[in-house]
Amino acid sequence: MYVQEIIRLQPPGGTVFSERLANEPEQITRCNLGLLVDSLDEKERIALETMIQAWSAEKLSVAIREEGSVIGPKLISKHKNKKCICEDK
Ligand SMILES: [Zn+2]
Repeated sequence: MYVQEIIRLQPPGGTVFSERLANEPEQITRCNLGLLVDSLDEKERIALETMIQAWSAEKLSVAIREEGSVIGPKLISKHKNKKCICEDK
């Protein structure tokens, strides 16, 4: 009875979870700031990378929030100091 219930809950094709699992290592190699950098076109990416190095984490956090994303100063500091998951490879 329990087994039947599990089979019933499987999505069509049954490949959804294996695909998620296969994609997982790629997803966790970037922190939220790294993902934001990756999502930008070249001009904006260079600007943001310059700001990461030149601006205080607090100031950059406010600027990022005003552009619609929420990334805290702690994460910005970690990314800047290469202590975030972007560097765990
Ligand atoms: Zn990072």
